[in-house]
Amino acid sequence: MSSLEVTAPDKTSHPDLSELSAESLYEKCNELARNLWWSWHTDVVNLFRDLDPVRWRQLDHNPMALLREFTPERLAERCTELVLFTRINQAYRRLKEYMDTADQSWAATNAGVLGAHPVAYFSAEFGIHESVPIYSGGLGVLSGDHIKSASGLGLPLVAIGLFYDQGYFNQLLDIEGYQTEEYVDTKVENLPMEPAQGQDGKPITVAIDTRDGQLLAKVWLMRVGRVKLYLLDCDVEGNSPQDRQLTSRLYGGELRTRVRQELVLGVGGVKALRALGIQPGVYHLNEGHSAFAPLEVIRERMTDDGLSFDEALREVAQRTVFTTHTPVPAGHDRFDGGLIEEHLGPLRDQLGISYEQLMGLGRVEPQNEGESFCMTVVGLKLSRRANAVSSLHGQVSRRMWSHLWPWRVEEEIPIGHITNGVHVPSWLAFQMQNLYDRYFGSNWMRDMGSPETWEGIYDCSPGELWETHNALKNLLLEFVRRRVSRQCRRRGESEEVVEAARRVLNPNVLTIGFARRFATYKRADLLTTDMDRLAELVNNSKQPMQVIFAGKAHPADEPGKQLIKKIDNLRHDPRFAGRIVFIEDYDINVGRHLTQGVDVWLNNPRRPLEASGTSGQKVVLNGGLNLSILDGWWAEAYNGENGFAIGNGTQHVSDEVTDQRDAETLYQVLENEVIPLFYERDAHGLPQEWIKRMMNSIHTLAWRFSAHRMVGDYTLHAYLQAAGGISCEMSMR
Ligand SMILES: *Cc1c(COP(=O)(O)O)cnc(C)c1O
Repeated sequence: MSSLEVTAPDKTSHPDLSELSAESLYEKCNELARNLWWSWHTDVVNLFRDLDPVRWRQLDHNPMALLREFTPERLAERCTELVLFTRINQAYRRLKEYMDTADQSWAATNAGVLGAHPVAYFSAEFGIHESVPIYSGGLGVLSGDHIKSASGLGLPLVAIGLFYDQGYFNQLLDIEGYQTEEYVDTKVENLPMEPAQGQDGKPITVAIDTRDGQLLAKVWLMRVGRVKLYLLDCDVEGNSPQDRQLTSRLYGGELRTRVRQELVLGVGGVKALRALGIQPGVYHLNEGHSAFAPLEVIRERMTDDGLSFDEALREVAQRTVFTTHTPVPAGHDRFDGGLIEEHLGPLRDQLGISYEQLMGLGRVEPQNEGESFCMTVVGLKLSRRANAVSSLHGQVSRRMWSHLWPWRVEEEIPIGHITNGVHVPSWLAFQMQNLYDRYFGSNWMRDMGSPETWEGIYDCSPGELWETHNALKNLLLEFVRRRVSRQCRRRGESEEVVEAARRVLNPNVLTIGFARRFATYKRADLLTTDMDRLAELVNNSKQPMQVIFAGKAHPADEPGKQLIKKIDNLRHDPRFAGRIVFIEDYDINVGRHLTQGVDVWLNNPRRPLEASGTSGQKVVLNGGLNLSILDGWWAEAYNGENGFAIGNGTQHVSDEVTDQRDAETLYQVLENEVIPLFYERDAHGLPQEWIKRMMNSIHTLAWRFSAHRMVGDYTLHAYLQAAGGISCEMSMR
């Protein structure tokens, strides 16, 4: 131990030493803050938090912003007060060691061939941490989890995205409960990113030709563990004032903005890789937004290697993996011929193909002039391997796109599936991790993909598991009360209302969580189908329940906003006041609290529209139980004893009938299964059968629905074949 760890640097007697140490301490903290590796290491998160807990919360848990408020001297003082030197040095050493040991990773053994030619992973959003607002929801969180696991597995992978300086929006409900959107400029200096450098050591700007002039984008580098994430940003000199705002907002604006953003992501992304000197062996298009990318790669191959368009297309498709994420029609971007010609015209000239040929690539029926250009279609046509994100979604997607391969039977449509998973270190509560450390052995994370690892949960005493869960539930309730009272105050409600908000919910009551995008097919209001029946459940004198809601509606989704209003207004009904709450501004932070603390996670989409869903997987890790329609991941996860199912996996042709039936089944399952089981207590007050179900859930699901398993599957079933020129289609069914 160095003397610094026990005594304050003495400025008067050792001026040089103290200055040096304060500087190096400050530098170490900054280096930790500049790699998002910190975000999935609770001890490092806590280290930053301890520097100034109040500012930490106010600054959205952003260590870059926090450190900017410290001088090296004040930081050193603070560290002395709190004896933080050892923790900082340890964290710093761990980061260094992590960065230096990729050669001992899973991928070093299993995916060595990707070494010199990494996977280039394209996504329109990345949800890594609440302090980096370049995501809107599920797709972004999935991309974030994908690259974190790629880092953990040591997979050679670089990621490409867009930098949105206003991100998605902050959700504020007005006094009526109607959603309003607030856009805030992100301070670039508070984000862990730097200008990416080209091979000549200079910052990179890429230029993309359109019929209407050139579009420029600069490139940022963000470090996510061992993975480098490159973000393109159109706010550069040389762009028109309007184009400087092109990448300001996620999914904002009309179709022309949308096609231009996707041009920057796909074509600009490939150009950025070239300027960086990176030669990918595999291109993974995560959703259709980036599906222009292969066209630019084809151009490169034609120019560099003298291939014909058809030859280049075949070779590029061989290296391309495409993942489709939704069966909902609005989730598939479509552009008319005018927008396509304006934006891809110059590239089309270089490819030497006609307007009709280009349009044909984005059409199900190439010759059909009435058909617009669909990003999913071009993604499917320009990739040799395509997949959906759950088993059921695979079936649905094969049916949905069967007309692209009219000569094949449905089972042979070449769309496989790799079910989504979550990044365990990011979503697992620290208290649960401690429990697992004790029962699974301290190296369990290394073996988390194996079911045997999780068998250890049955060795845990039921009382201990229950206590740990309840500690997390109490933290959630504290969080909810803080947020609900804050939002009442902001809306200018009376002191009485604000005070009442500090006492909402009861820790002894069965607590149900529902948080997701307020798209209508997710049916946030299914529980309110019969208000009297809901009131009976909520107010039952012996076995009550309470519900926490959260979620944003897309700014243009009026029906979604009406749903939010309807749920929020339940607080004015005395039967529900203080028992059903809506928390504003669902984000990764709210998601983490909710999925770590609820007893039950409710998911009731209109089947089969939920491609996968991942929030319920976060709940599994933390001991909550899923109550869900047999859709998405739950259709393959539920085994009768590891949670609860709503219905039997069927749906009626009429949505109205389906909704009525599902509501009835939901009430029945709550009344007959969920609620009685939760309140069935032994002499010590423990719900033994419930706890058994928690253990079953953890044992049967945690290992399967992790992002490490998911990225492992992508590697073994898609990336390696794509890189090695193996031409079989993805056979994951
Ligand atoms: C996990 C997560 C999602 C995705 O969950 P779904 O089950 O697909 O709704 C969306 N938003 C946030 C903030 C999340 O943390």
